[in-house]
Amino acid sequence: MTIKDYNFAGKKAIVRVDFNVPLDENGKITDDTRIRGALPTLKHILENGGALIIMSHMGKPKGKVQAKFSLGQIKDAVAAALGRPVQFAEDCAKAQDQAAALKPGEVLLLENLRFYPEEEGKPVGIEKEDPAYEAAKKEMKARQKEFAKTLASYADCYVMDAFGTAHRKHASTAVIADYFDADNKMLGFLMEKEVAAVDAVLGDIKRPFVAIMGGSKVSSKIGIIENLLGKVDKLILCGGMTYTFAKAHGGEIGNSIVELDKLDVALGVEELAKKNGVELVMAEDAICGDSFSNDAKQQVCPSNAIPEGWEGLDAGPKAQEAFANAIKGAKTILWNGPAGVFEFDNFCDGSRAIGNAIAEATANGAFSLIGGGDSVACVNKFGLADKVSYISTGGGALLEAIEGKILPGVAAIKGE
Ligand code: AMP
Repeated sequence: MTIKDYNFAGKKAIVRVDFNVPLDENGKITDDTRIRGALPTLKHILENGGALIIMSHMGKPKGKVQAKFSLGQIKDAVAAALGRPVQFAEDCAKAQDQAAALKPGEVLLLENLRFYPEEEGKPVGIEKEDPAYEAAKKEMKARQKEFAKTLASYADCYVMDAFGTAHRKHASTAVIADYFDADNKMLGFLMEKEVAAVDAVLGDIKRPFVAIMGGSKVSSKIGIIENLLGKVDKLILCGGMTYTFAKAHGGEIGNSIVELDKLDVALGVEELAKKNGVELVMAEDAICGDSFSNDAKQQVCPSNAIPEGWEGLDAGPKAQEAFANAIKGAKTILWNGPAGVFEFDNFCDGSRAIGNAIAEATANGAFSLIGGGDSVACVNKFGLADKVSYISTGGGALLEAIEGKILPGVAAIKGE
């Protein structure tokens, strides 16, 4: 079923959204992108005469009730965004009565799903090495099904619109779909858009295809890096991982961030790139600071000759030029992860150079896909949000989709 074709009149829809929004210390939302992302689906259901049961996780409460992760904090913001009152269910697994009483046009927001360990379905308080782990896992999987069944019992239909968690096989993102027949479950508009954006990149790749992978570590991105080496023409590797590569070749990197146990991984990436004929572009120079701070003293050094007491915090001027040149002629672009500590205004020029080059290439007809919280924050910081083709709400989910994996949240609906 598709959301456009479904008749919501008189129906209750339980919708999994990603309302895992960042909050400040007073519980105020600092970035409401994810709430705005879900609005087309939520409004469509209400305008079509449906009632809404909204469910989400927030943060990592690890299966325990923790006030700082309560979705009650965002109830008023959701009400304001929808332009109508929102009721709140303080226990997401005991909301039967509130759900049953909902009338068309009414909205019920469930408390954080991850207050229950059943949501993620991982046994708690037991290590993988423990001989009892397998039995505990089996028991938790059974409890996860019961939890999903309870959530499903609140509604007539299920809509999956949480792209950010679509790569997880959780109770609310995938297991719940088993309790609805094919005519009563569907992807929401955001999911449809995200899946289409990935298809636009991978379906018919317009070349050259240039990917930019940054961020702090090579270890967390190695899967996608290896995968991209089978798809792209050029791969820019930047950010903190630069220094693991420099170190692997015996360079001096001062106090720069490094993964000493991943030097062979770095060399393996270079070998694979060579074998596949992919041009690797890495930062030849670095803007270094004498401490990890925005106000640190600065000097530009070769990335493999950073003096003791200094650390590489951004891509240097030569690197910025090389990155921009690599990006400018691209016809397909994927960006995940900043080129430096972009949160510091004095060390964000490398990321800015990438953002500007992507905007220029996009103006010249490239399709550019930006994903992952930090690169999205960069694009917003530099005022480039409307100069790129698509900004994904997913980090891990986007990368897994680009790797060609079928996301459990999609498979649960489409039965793939
Ligand atoms: P990730 O979560 O792996 O995508 O990494 C994003 C983080 O990497 C951002 O918070 C950046 O500040 C950080 N980062 C990027 N470059 C560096 C660097 N040279 N040194 C330390 N952290 C960095």
